[in-house]
Amino acid sequence: MFHSGWGCGAQPGHRLWNADNWDYTPRDLRLETMLEFLPSYLKHNVYERPLLAHYLGVTDPLGPSLRYAAPRSTKSRLATDPSMTVARILEALCDLPGIVNNVEHTTYLEQCDFFGITNAELLCGPCLRNFVQARFWLFWQSVKVGAAPWEATRQNCWLGYDCASQAVDPEHAYAKNVR
Ligand SMILES: [Zn+2]
Ligand SMILES: [Zn+2]
Repeated sequence: MFHSGWGCGAQPGHRLWNADNWDYTPRDLRLETMLEFLPSYLKHNVYERPLLAHYLGVTDPLGPSLRYAAPRSTKSRLATDPSMTVARILEALCDLPGIVNNVEHTTYLEQCDFFGITNAELLCGPCLRNFVQARFWLFWQSVKVGAAPWEATRQNCWLGYDCASQAVDPEHAYAKNVR
């Protein structure tokens, strides 16, 4: 099902979610599955993926194939927060427009389908997943740069998150940001 924008409240017969029931999200929306909501090859980035798993405090099912470790300084700044929950992430995704602080990211949020959404807005399952897909990478970027400002000095690979090299080439994955 695809909605342009997010007029989910008008859809009868579907379970709907907002901040009132984010503690009971669909089974495929858990901390353990958040890695899969990064776009395209970014979800297999050999630097970002283990670092994000570390931050979320989850064991990555693909872990053994992703050996590249982030620098200790970055890793310790992004220490696992034991109180992290999917509900907290969803809240943060709603708050992103007030958190991002560069023109590129502000423009991205203005142009994406969920511009103007609040935590009160009811979303059906497919739209909730689209929402996470649209914003989770940016949440991660903000968390990472907030904790480890030197991460912001990395140049973007011009292929962005569609770059396949990031999945296989640790040096490239580490040297380049994705957007
Ligand atoms: Zn919907
Ligand atoms: Zn690249």
